Amino acid sequence: MLRVADHFERTDPGRARRINEDSFFARAPLFAVADGVGGAQAGEVASHLAVEVIEQGLPERAGSIEERLRELVSEANARIRALSRTDEQRAGMASTLTVAYVGEHELSVAHVGDSRLYRLRDGTFERLTEDHSLVEELVRQGKLTPQEADEHPQRSIITRALGLEAGVESDSHTWPARDGDVYLLCSDGLTSMVAEEQVAGILGGAGSLPDAGRELVDAANAAGGRDNITVVLFRLEDVGAPAPSGETTEHVAVPASPGIEQERTAAAVAGAARPTGPAVAPEPASAEAPATRRRHPRAPRRPPEPARRGRRRRRRLRVPTGLLVAFFIVLAIALSAWYASQTVYFVGAKDGFVTVYRGMPYDLPAGLHLYSTNYVSGVPIGELSPPQRRLVTEHKLRSRDDAQELVRQMETGELSTP
Ligand code: MG
Repeated sequence: MLRVADHFERTDPGRARRINEDSFFARAPLFAVADGVGGAQAGEVASHLAVEVIEQGLPERAGSIEERLRELVSEANARIRALSRTDEQRAGMASTLTVAYVGEHELSVAHVGDSRLYRLRDGTFERLTEDHSLVEELVRQGKLTPQEADEHPQRSIITRALGLEAGVESDSHTWPARDGDVYLLCSDGLTSMVAEEQVAGILGGAGSLPDAGRELVDAANAAGGRDNITVVLFRLEDVGAPAPSGETTEHVAVPASPGIEQERTAAAVAGAARPTGPAVAPEPASAEAPATRRRHPRAPRRPPEPARRGRRRRRRLRVPTGLLVAFFIVLAIALSAWYASQTVYFVGAKDGFVTVYRGMPYDLPAGLHLYSTNYVSGVPIGELSPPQRRLVTEHKLRSRDDAQELVRQMETGELSTP
C-alpha cells in the first residue's frame, strides 16, 4: 500500500507581477494547483475558490475516484461561475485546476486548463496531463511541432477553464503508482519559463523535495519569472517496505517564506495574479510583442553591501535637478493619459476569450497598463470568423455601451459581420 512519504509546496509571484493568482492545496492524499485569471484580483479569487472546493475532500458517494475528482472540478466550476455572475468586480474570472489523488496503489488526476502533472520514476521524467491550450490543440492536429508550441507566442491561451461556462469538461486519468514515484504539479509560470529537460534535471539532481522545489522556482525566476510560479511536489512510498535509513517519513512541508506560510494557513493554499498567465491570453498590448515571455536572463538580485549602499546614496545626491523635473513632467503626462483612458473601452482577447477592456490598448514603461479588464465573455476567439476576429484584434476605441453591445452580439450569435 502506498502513502505520501513527503511533500513540498512553493508559490512565488515571479518577477513581472505584483500579485500571485496561483493557489495550491497539499494535504495527502489530495494535491492541487489552480491558476487564476481575471483583473482586479478576480483571478486570485477564482483560484482560491477552486482550492477551497478541493479542501472539502472527495465527495462521499459511490463512484470511481476519477468520477469523484471530476465532480470536485465541476463544483469548483459552479462556484467560480456563480460568483462571477453575481459580483460585477469578478465578472469573467476563471481558473485552471489540476487535482491529484493518491490511492492505495494508483494515482488519479482530473484537470482543466494548462496546470500540469509530471512524474519522475526511475530517472524517467514524464508529463501525464495534456494542456487544454490553443498550441496543444494545434500540436494534436499536426499543425505545430511540440518545439514550436514551446516557443509559440500564444502558448498561454487556454481553451478550457473553470468559471466561464455553466458546465465544464474535465479530463481524468488513473495510473498505477509505485514506491519512490515523485509527482510534480505546477502552474505554467514554471513550464513556460523552464524547459522540461531542465525541470527533469533539477528534479533528478536535487537532494530533497524542498531543494528541488526551491531550485525549480529559482530557475523560473532566473529565466525571467514572467508569470506566477507554483510547484507542488510529493513522493510516494510503499508502507510495506522499510524506509531507507536516514530518510524521513514525516511530511516535509517547508514554507518558503513567512508569506507562503500565511497563505497556506489561510486556505491551505497560496494565491495570486496572472495577467498573461497560463490561461492568460496575451493582453492587448503585450499581445503585440509576445515572444518576450521566455528566457530573459536577468542579473541575480544581490543584497547591497554596506559600501555599495554608501556609493549609491552619494550618486543619488548628484542627480541633476533638470532630470528630476523631466521625471515629474513625464509622470504627470502618464497620469493624465491614464485618467483620460478611463472613459474609453475597447474589445480584445484574454485567455483566448473575447474581452471588454476599459482604457486604451497601450502599456507604459515599468509594467503600467492603460487598461483594465471590464468583462471576459464566454466566446473563444478561435471560434470567430476572420472578419469577426479583426473586430477583436484591431483594439478600436469604443464607448462602454458600444464595446459591451459588440461582445453581447458575439455571445448571442447576432453579430451581422459574417
Ligand atoms: Mg500562470
